[in-house]
Amino acid sequence: LCFCAELPRCCLSGCLQVRGDGEILSQVVSSQADLLARYGGVAPKMAEEAHALVIDQVVQKALDDAKLSGSDLSAVAVTVGPGLSLCLRVGVHKVRQVAKSFGLPIVGVHHMEAHALVSRLVNKDLDFPFLALLISGGHNLLVLAHSLGQYVQLGTTIDDAIGEAYDETARWLGLDMRKGPALEELALDGDPDAVKFRVPMRQHKDCNFSYAGLKTQVRLAIESKNLSTYDIPISSASEEDRQSRANIAASFQRVAVLHLEERCQRAVEWALKIEPSIKYFVVSGGVASNKYVRTCLNQVAENNGLQLVSPPPSLCTDNGVMIAWTGIEHFVAGRFEDPPAADEPDDTQYELRPRWPLGEEYSEGRSVAR
Ligand code: ATP
Ligand code: FE
Repeated sequence: LCFCAELPRCCLSGCLQVRGDGEILSQVVSSQADLLARYGGVAPKMAEEAHALVIDQVVQKALDDAKLSGSDLSAVAVTVGPGLSLCLRVGVHKVRQVAKSFGLPIVGVHHMEAHALVSRLVNKDLDFPFLALLISGGHNLLVLAHSLGQYVQLGTTIDDAIGEAYDETARWLGLDMRKGPALEELALDGDPDAVKFRVPMRQHKDCNFSYAGLKTQVRLAIESKNLSTYDIPISSASEEDRQSRANIAASFQRVAVLHLEERCQRAVEWALKIEPSIKYFVVSGGVASNKYVRTCLNQVAENNGLQLVSPPPSLCTDNGVMIAWTGIEHFVAGRFEDPPAADEPDDTQYELRPRWPLGEEYSEGRSVAR
């Protein structure tokens, strides 16, 4: 059994699960959506305070829902990076407390590795090595997963992640707080050919990404159409205005995803050169819950004889299950820290890894890029 506390930018969740069949015994999510709605964003200090306020209840509820106590657990897992130290510290502090009380080993988890490995919870046939695209609010990573904890980074973003581009575009189009999902919904009513956006980085023959330029193009398109977007939410827009916004949403989405497809096609070629035995293409992270993204990337996988594995949307966006599962994978492999000493003071400083690359950069990729 394994408990985990997950503290990404603005949500907190805990979960308990058993190994064997990977059954999830409980899952508790406490999000800061209300703070987001009130202030339009969450400042790090505000996030830290909000986490600290609820973490005890979340942990207790996760245990209660599973009808377990701390002494039934075998280990505790917690995100130690990458991310904001201020927020990571809240989770690590709580987990050390639990670990100390019950004498449990601790597994420090890499947030992005967890996004990738949760695919192995949902697809038991998914063996290493595999290729993974991780697309979220803060990352755009293409990695070749050789084995547990051993990754080669084929590509990353040189500026923004795709989730950030979805979020900004959604905000500019006057969409609700769901952002990415709201934009996906609006794009269904739009014409993807209505606005011609340039596909980023075509002249760079590598697997890196860039979304800052596309964001600027979207911004200019909105301004040139004189859409009153910030102040008038889409629910109050005229029919014509709404259609223009839907067209921008669809045109943005097409190019944002085409950029993914192009880089993934090259990454598949690189990956198969390094590891010809690859059979699976994993796509995870919040943006992977988007149906259009999944359909397009499934096509890339099929074109190359690979099988796409993408977790259900609830396991693509941040969740505690993925941290617990990754904790289990490392625990079983013998990679964990001993329980804290019974006399460890509560204010001990722990090692956090706010910047933590998932793996070495692929060196041939760098030379190809030049
Ligand atoms: P990171 O994992 O890089 O630290 P994060 O943890 O904040 O970032 P996730 O929770 O994995 O990110 O994903 C959140 C992102 O996914 C947000 O940018 C959100 O808008 C986006 N997203 C969620 N659902 C969809 C969707 N259906 N379409 C597009 N984007 C989506
Ligand atoms: Fe995440």
